[in-house]
Amino acid sequence: MSLFDTHIMVDWSGGNDTGAKPRKDAIWICEADQEPVYLRNRVLAEDWLNTRISAAVDAGERLCIGFDFAFGYPDGFCETVTGHKDPLALWAWLEERMKDAPEANSRFDIGAEINQLFDGIGPFWGNGLKRDIEGLPRKGNDRTGRAMPERRHVETLARGAFAVWQLSGAGAVGGQVLTGLPVLSRLRRQFAEHVSVWPFEKLDSSIAFVEIWPSLISAEIAEQATDPIKDAGQVRVIANVVARLDQADKLQTVLDSVPEESRREGWILGVGAEDIFRAAATARPDRLPSNCFALPPGVDWTPVDEALNLLHAAMRPVVAQEDCPIADCGGRVLAEDICAVRSHPPAPNSAVDGYGFHLDEVSGKTVILPLMKGRSAAGVPFDSAVPNGQAVQVLTGAILPDGVNTVALQEDTVVSGNHITIQGPIKPGANTRDAGEDVRAGEVVLSKGRRMNGCDVGLLSAVGCDFAKVFGRLRIRVISTGDELRSPGEVAADHQVYDANGPMLARMAKNWGYEVSTVRVGDDRTAMRQVFTEAANETDAILTSGGASSGAEDHVSALLAEEGHISSWRVALKPGRPLALGQWQGVPIFGLPGNPVAAFVCAALFARPALSVMAGGAWLEPQGFWVPSGFAKRKKDGRREYLRARIAEDGRAEVFASEGSGRISGLSWATGLVELPHEGITVEPGDLVRFIPFASFDQ
Ligand code: AMP
Ligand code: MG
Repeated sequence: MSLFDTHIMVDWSGGNDTGAKPRKDAIWICEADQEPVYLRNRVLAEDWLNTRISAAVDAGERLCIGFDFAFGYPDGFCETVTGHKDPLALWAWLEERMKDAPEANSRFDIGAEINQLFDGIGPFWGNGLKRDIEGLPRKGNDRTGRAMPERRHVETLARGAFAVWQLSGAGAVGGQVLTGLPVLSRLRRQFAEHVSVWPFEKLDSSIAFVEIWPSLISAEIAEQATDPIKDAGQVRVIANVVARLDQADKLQTVLDSVPEESRREGWILGVGAEDIFRAAATARPDRLPSNCFALPPGVDWTPVDEALNLLHAAMRPVVAQEDCPIADCGGRVLAEDICAVRSHPPAPNSAVDGYGFHLDEVSGKTVILPLMKGRSAAGVPFDSAVPNGQAVQVLTGAILPDGVNTVALQEDTVVSGNHITIQGPIKPGANTRDAGEDVRAGEVVLSKGRRMNGCDVGLLSAVGCDFAKVFGRLRIRVISTGDELRSPGEVAADHQVYDANGPMLARMAKNWGYEVSTVRVGDDRTAMRQVFTEAANETDAILTSGGASSGAEDHVSALLAEEGHISSWRVALKPGRPLALGQWQGVPIFGLPGNPVAAFVCAALFARPALSVMAGGAWLEPQGFWVPSGFAKRKKDGRREYLRARIAEDGRAEVFASEGSGRISGLSWATGLVELPHEGITVEPGDLVRFIPFASFDQ
């Protein structure tokens, strides 16, 4: 059970207003699974936090909010400044003194004021203003007082972390602390009984403030963040990591990894538990946002296109990336654009078997040239240049020797003794291939998101690639539900039916490139709960069939409604009802209908493009063709219909005799689907109808 419902990370800034246009070194806030929010100054950021916390308190939502600045100072500092040991006393002390407006703040003067309380010069330094400030040196080396250690204990462990005393200069965090703590202090007072501060207080209220330091997982951030602005990517990745840690029940362990003696100084979340933290960063990228399938309120029968648009918007990749040898890339989805390592062909070569020589202009005549000894063959180049006026034998794929720009086809030549006669006409450059005429080194040859086929693998190899970054294979669990089901080979009584959907859907998902496992479960809530939980732990997406409606034995939808998330999509589609889209422990479930034809159509139409995006690929649109119909049909308005169809010898689409969605034999009879529009129409033989070949669904 996770400790928090929502995880929000804040990249703070000690600087002044950064303007309307989102930019770096401003304040960025991101909730896990949401888009980063840009806030140009601290006043707006405090407002945002205030509103967000207020909403959470009203809704009983538990928030974990991380801030990327130190919550405290080396031990002893607080007591010298405030007279109290409690580090939160310093928060209040700073809150009282800090004057902060979007265009200016008093952090340097406060630093100087505090310095007066310590012997010598320091510990604060780094006056970033033009005017000199008494007691606040510009350089760290100008300090004389050594009353305070340079770093908190946690900063000695967090390699590369800046000391809290430095108030300006690249990377300095001191200004963030002085401007941040007063804001946290105010929020803490405002929501007094709701906020606890880690690690100073027990986290026994609904809102927790924790200290974070994105550099702890900088490598993972660099790899995963795609945002053009670094700060935005940082908060996005770290919010997702903390959320994932929590969902995996590991956040408590991380929170507990604080040495007792450091509780008064503050601690960075994840230091001391780096392995767990990093594992969460790399183990598995984002899951889908919770309840991402929610339909807008008031939607009744959703037209297919609208349903597809909603589903498309809800999807995102959920798989990690890995390096894959080119030869194994077939069926994998590219996680980055691939550029040619070398040109193809790498050097000018011959397109035919023949004789090479130099030619300046089109020659219509017969030419006789002395033939040099030796030859240029593929992989065995000719070892010298060919002087103007002479020829040499060259074979297909052989590099053109220096001096050769044209090749005469062997069939157009006659060799006699050490001369060669070439029958014209022939053009300069004939039968040769230029270096890079196909692909130039550095050119993008395949783009991110492409699911590679055999030709693609050949291309990547040809242009010199050895490995490609690909998305991990999506893992799918196919679950057939129903007390009546039996597996192939089992004895089945009359009241039982063999599981057709399980094998069918599993084969389809394998064809789509996924790692597929299957399981069957009866109409039993307890067993189903266990099967869902196992699937959620072991796979990325679940396809169920059966039990998706709202009847007494429709346990898939009932269980999702009770313990997961569900949206029963009433899609205006035949065959296709009912389609239940939901999530179990963050893993999407495509609850397909039990009738095999409806299960097939919904899988092909909805699951296929959605899974493709989850696997890092494109949203897939099936390719259809307009063909004359070989049938007549009157169709009513208000739903789209798919008919099992095939192209007859006369080139017309004929349809299966029955539209019954249990008639699975019709799927094998057919070679595709005829798609009839949402609107009412009358189809007469010869009218054009849209035929989608099954090949379009990779089924
Ligand atoms: P349900 O959606 O569970 O009410 O099932 C609707 C119809 O589909 C019933 O006739 C079921 O027996 C049938 N059905 C459900 N699951 C399967 C399956 N895996 N294979 C074949 N038929 C199924
Ligand atoms: Mg059933």
